Amino acid sequence: MSTPGTTTTSLNQRRVSYFYDAEIGNYHYGQGHPMKPHRIRMTHNLVVNYGLYRRMEVFRPRLVSHTAMTRFHSDDYINFLKVISPDNMQDYIRQLQRFNVGEDCPVFDGLFEFCQLYTSGSIGGAARLNENRVDVVINFAGGLHHAKRAEASGFCYVNDCVLAILELLKKHERVLYIDIDIHHGDGVEEAFYTTNRVMTVSFHKFGEYFPGTGDVHDIGHADGKNYAINFPLNDGMDDDSFRGVFRPIIAKVMEVFQPGAVVLQCGADSLSGDRLGCFNLSIKGHGDCVEFVKSFHIPMLVLGGGGYTLRNIPRCWTYETSILAGEDIKDELPFNDYFEYFGPDYRLHLPVSNMENLNSPEYLQRTKIQLLEILREVEPVPGTQIQTGQIESQTNPRGIIFEMDHSTQEENENEDETMDNQQIREERKEHPSELEG
Ligand SMILES: [Zn+2]
Repeated sequence: MSTPGTTTTSLNQRRVSYFYDAEIGNYHYGQGHPMKPHRIRMTHNLVVNYGLYRRMEVFRPRLVSHTAMTRFHSDDYINFLKVISPDNMQDYIRQLQRFNVGEDCPVFDGLFEFCQLYTSGSIGGAARLNENRVDVVINFAGGLHHAKRAEASGFCYVNDCVLAILELLKKHERVLYIDIDIHHGDGVEEAFYTTNRVMTVSFHKFGEYFPGTGDVHDIGHADGKNYAINFPLNDGMDDDSFRGVFRPIIAKVMEVFQPGAVVLQCGADSLSGDRLGCFNLSIKGHGDCVEFVKSFHIPMLVLGGGGYTLRNIPRCWTYETSILAGEDIKDELPFNDYFEYFGPDYRLHLPVSNMENLNSPEYLQRTKIQLLEILREVEPVPGTQIQTGQIESQTNPRGIIFEMDHSTQEENENEDETMDNQQIREERKEHPSELEG
């Protein structure tokens, strides 16, 4: 493992793959719903107009089958997602309730294909990392961290983060999951709560806020004890405060856990001015987390997640793409298909607000020390004796039952299609109501 800050130019030049399917922006959660897949298309368009595609290989993911999703999710839940549509909803009242589909997680046209698209980039990206053909994979369509084994939650249906981690576990003994979305990464934490092969680390708003979990005392169970790390935060987190807790905790995690691969969920709802969020991070402050994780030179899967103020998200994820691709980009935005969204300043970086930071230095310091104490309990290089099967299912009925399958993935032989420049620069398309918000 390299130490951050000692990078050389050659090490800084990482091989980056970027997964994107132009169809993703055509799905629509419904009028007034804050989650807008269109933001992925806006991000892509800005990435392209900054010329960043020249620094990466751009792939259209090969679609994974529903069987690939049942490595985590229950068969009946995935079958339900396959058949449900706005036309037949009235025939599935009980299942809609049972699987928590209908309100926050609405039924919309093409729902299953949408899940397939974002999940395929994450699983395909993990497979590509496993083949050691690339150092970093980006899939901003993914990062839907709230979905449970048999339940939709918080705008998420299929948990691509969990499925990507399972793919990485085929090759790597230990996988680290880091979550900087403003919401707790509950679905991922729950899936791996009783194993020491996956450490989950989440920084999130806590207290009368969705999903309500992620207390500092929730640290994992059985073999997974001390392998779930939660930093609960209050409104108004700013760049300096975030950096002051993120860097020391992640540095300690890297030291004690020594992961073979990292999944970084980059939810953009932790940015200042988010429609649903209440933090005050700038795009640079958010990107600093990406920069820091990158500096450890561990195979890295970078995912999207939340993000509900449409003009912020493309800025944030394009900036983070530039960090990963190792190219400085100018603050003045290039002309792009969605230029009107970025007024009045048309700049990449945005000022933060003057909201009060309700996280006192004392609180941050105390919680940081608490978490560093937990990390001190982590045994060096765990994972040689892993309890699987029965024990997992008894102690964590909603989590993963490991199959310990190290065979080559039959579903995705990584035939993700490379896109040429023509395909990368696709035409502008959007649903009329996407222009709101
Ligand atoms: Zn979120």
